[in-house]
Amino acid sequence: MEKFKACKSCRLLFLTGNTCPMCNSEDLTDKHSGQIIFFDIEKSEIAKKFGAGAPGKYAIRVK
Ligand SMILES: [Zn+2]
Repeated sequence: MEKFKACKSCRLLFLTGNTCPMCNSEDLTDKHSGQIIFFDIEKSEIAKKFGAGAPGKYAIRVK
């Protein structure tokens, strides 16, 4: 299984790099649980509540 890193700031999950591709934060963690994928953040109330700034895969919780 692929090992995702999570951004502690926006909770985006990604595989490569040492900075978050979304917000450029370097505050990353590999301790995260749960995953949620947003496709259409404009139409998704959950995405808005979650604070997702772009479509993608996010960690539900980060430590
Ligand atoms: Zn981020």
